[in-house]
Amino acid sequence: MDRNALATAYGLLIAGTRRAASSGGMIPVLDPSTEMVLAEVPDATIEDAAAAVEAAAKAAPAWAATPSRRRSEILRRCFELMTARAEELAVLIAQENGKALRDARGEVAYAAEFFRWNAEEAVRIKGDFAIAPSGANRIIIDHQPIGICVLITPWNFPAAMATRKIGPALAAGCTVILKPATETPLTAYALAALYEEAGVPPGVVNVLTTRKPGPLVAAMLADPRVRKLSFTGSTEIGRTLLAEAAKHVTSCSMELGGNAPVIVFDDADLDTAIEGVMVAKMRNAGQACTAANRIYVQSGIYDAFAARLTGRMLALAVGPGTAPETECGPMISAAAVGKIERLVQDATARGAKLLCGGARPAGKGFYYPPTVLADVPPTAEMIHEEIFGPVAALCRFESEDEAIARANDTEYGLSAYIFTRDVARGLRVARQIESGMIALNRGLVSDPAAPFGGVKQSGLGREGGTDGIYEFLETKYIAAAL
Ligand code: NAP
Repeated sequence: MDRNALATAYGLLIAGTRRAASSGGMIPVLDPSTEMVLAEVPDATIEDAAAAVEAAAKAAPAWAATPSRRRSEILRRCFELMTARAEELAVLIAQENGKALRDARGEVAYAAEFFRWNAEEAVRIKGDFAIAPSGANRIIIDHQPIGICVLITPWNFPAAMATRKIGPALAAGCTVILKPATETPLTAYALAALYEEAGVPPGVVNVLTTRKPGPLVAAMLADPRVRKLSFTGSTEIGRTLLAEAAKHVTSCSMELGGNAPVIVFDDADLDTAIEGVMVAKMRNAGQACTAANRIYVQSGIYDAFAARLTGRMLALAVGPGTAPETECGPMISAAAVGKIERLVQDATARGAKLLCGGARPAGKGFYYPPTVLADVPPTAEMIHEEIFGPVAALCRFESEDEAIARANDTEYGLSAYIFTRDVARGLRVARQIESGMIALNRGLVSDPAAPFGGVKQSGLGREGGTDGIYEFLETKYIAAAL
């Protein structure tokens, strides 16, 4: 494809038009299963970012004034179009991200649901009315769109992390600038075509790709019209962005890294626990913020659990995401494989036992095999860092108190998983785990109808559920003498 054709397919979206970057620069996008270039996208400059903020500012008054019923109908149409194009989008995600097609299909369904859910939420924004205790006035509580929003998303869910922000932002009446991850921008651009078709007015959603996210985002945050930063990504970049936003006291929502513990008690149903851990560990080949990072198994069930899990991991079909039989695709990059390799070597050097996997295959593609490590000691680096790959780290525990203490021994607090037949114990332990989300006897926690988010250094704010839309609304209090 020549440069002009690419600018049309994957051009920056500013004020409803597709453009090349003002510098003319392009960024190659790799297929992680072959390391070949899939396509190129524009490398936006600070001038392009300023144009996007200008477009969002110009579109903001009319979009905020659009009746919420109309905004709701447009979002519903986004859901319908996305659902109609589910397979096409899933293949694109599998190509640029490498995830198995079945995971990509699951992501598209999950991502589309943020449009349907927020179409329903758009018409249910509630205020409040009360009599002041003094009797002197009435207290009116109103909610207004927060203003222009900068949305930054990671590569591991190229569709869902974007729609989880765009859905509620548009429902709330805000205009946005999306900066998707440089490794997986094609899905964001493919979705952009769909917004236009659904009736989203020009300038309401703008999309920029860049190799220089730091300076570009800093420039956008310095514009006083930008009132919200919604970020999903690593805790490290989240901290940098919080500092940047602090300069302008910009409202921030932060969906950051995780280090999810799994606790499998002796009384767990083994089939349920194995099934749940396979999902919690292996969705997206372990590249999820909610991925099971530390698997604590009580000693009475430990050996049986380790043997069953190893069998399941060895049976997984590894290959390119787009191959129909693939269950575990490649990692996103050579650097990601390097990090996993380092963590596995560190754990085995400290005494962990390798039950399967552990050796990177030769040849093209960023592959790492499904791996199980037993008896991973508390000092191993993978106990404290996100593995972000297909490596199950098993640790033995004896008592409930010990499991809780070890699960909480981390700076992160995004998600956790508990397996037990004793529901009272499950709820008791869930209340004591320091994390924003808990899955009890299941391996999947994400749900557009539920508040997603973390505590401690896993983030600030919630996405989805009834909370999600309020991240994009400002509360206004009017003291009215009536
Ligand atoms: P990342 O390196 O933090 O990047 C996330 C996004 O931030 C990308 O778009 C990236 O752009 C951009 N970025 C990087 N440096 C920046 C800067 N200085 N200023 C502004 N933006 C900047 O994270 P990732 O590797 O893509 O994603 C994996 C991480 O995301 C993991 O830690 C995972 O746990 C977390 N995550 C959290 C959630 C959640 O909901 N809590 C969900 C999914 C993932 P470039 O691509 O150009 O670097």
